[in-house]
Amino acid sequence: MSSTERSIAAAEAHSAHNYHPLPVVVASAEGAWMTDVEGRRYLDMLAGYSALNFGHGNRRLLDAAKAQLERVTLTSRAFHHDRFADFCTQLAELCAMDMVLPMNTGAEAVETAVKTARKWGYKVKGVPDGRAKIVVADNNFHGRTTTIVSFSTDAEARADFGPYTPGFEIVPYGDLAALEAAVDEDTVAVLLEPIQGEAGVLVPPPGYLQGVRELTRSRNVLFIADEIQSGLGRTGRTFACEHEGVVPDMYVLGKALGGGVVPVSAVVSSRAVLGVYAPGEHGSTFGGNPLACAVALEVIAMLRSGEFQQRATELGDHLHGELRLLVGGGAVDAVRGRGLWAGVDINPSRGSGRAVSEQLMARRVLVKDTHGATIRIAPPLVISKEDLDWGLTQLREVLGA
Ligand SMILES: *Cc1c(COP(=O)(O)O)cnc(C)c1O
Repeated sequence: MSSTERSIAAAEAHSAHNYHPLPVVVASAEGAWMTDVEGRRYLDMLAGYSALNFGHGNRRLLDAAKAQLERVTLTSRAFHHDRFADFCTQLAELCAMDMVLPMNTGAEAVETAVKTARKWGYKVKGVPDGRAKIVVADNNFHGRTTTIVSFSTDAEARADFGPYTPGFEIVPYGDLAALEAAVDEDTVAVLLEPIQGEAGVLVPPPGYLQGVRELTRSRNVLFIADEIQSGLGRTGRTFACEHEGVVPDMYVLGKALGGGVVPVSAVVSSRAVLGVYAPGEHGSTFGGNPLACAVALEVIAMLRSGEFQQRATELGDHLHGELRLLVGGGAVDAVRGRGLWAGVDINPSRGSGRAVSEQLMARRVLVKDTHGATIRIAPPLVISKEDLDWGLTQLREVLGA
């Protein structure tokens, strides 16, 4: 047995089988490259579902983390610490908002957004107690908690986890008329991904986000943008909403906010919305801890320069230009996305998304399939153009294109 096989067998024996990873065992990584336990190098074209926008082992992030590790890592929110104010101030500023509520994982931040919208609905909008409704889109992905899977349309994510949390209505993504019909006087929020990542990098029709913005504003409903995957540089902007010149009422952030070093998530909004909280009403032991704040502050500083957004735009234009050439040649049915982020629908004649991912792995390129026929391409934004081109060559060869 190879060390790879031994490691995978042990993992399968002693971990719950809630994932089906590709058979590669990573031992180290740098930039856009990962090295496995047998010394083979792979190009990372997934980047931890965009948690690794700034690459593996980013020097600035590691230095920030190391310096903070030596000082203080956790105080709990029972006490103040000296990185907290800077983190909240600078994140609010990056989002052009007033206030931040820090959590750890994306799902926790979505839960926080749901709780915040409900509280705002009762305290500010005047919705009768217990009636608050949140409208969401089909094919959404917002995380894995019991409440969040309650409004998933993915059978695998949802089956056998009921009873489900009430208070959500699901409408087709991209359909403004359906959304308008669903919004009523008890509606407190519309919760959407500006681009649906897990669904296959689905970009809504032009004007949709603007329409959502106008509708929610005119009906006194909060527009919550889950930018956990789409935000922080991936699409060529700090936020994917910017592509339509839209500012939501609330951003939900995670993934790249912790730079792939520590889990950091947050809800960022106005004083009128996040101001609804009083002490004791919500919290998290680790949310906003000093280590998280130190790493996130460095992430924010990197985003402020605009260089990563620009890279995502330039490399993304190149990526989409190359991918478009594959459409219609028999191997690829469709390509979607924005910036350095693409969903590629593989023609069934070339095998499933999983089969293509495995063939790419054999050629030392790591991607992840989603929903059967689609592969997702989202390398770290620090990838070189040469490496991106090499990865695309491997894809063309696997697809016989
Ligand atoms: C990943 C993701 C989440 C959940 O984040 P976790 O950190 O895995 O809990 C929520 N929303 C979107 C859009 C995501 O991509």
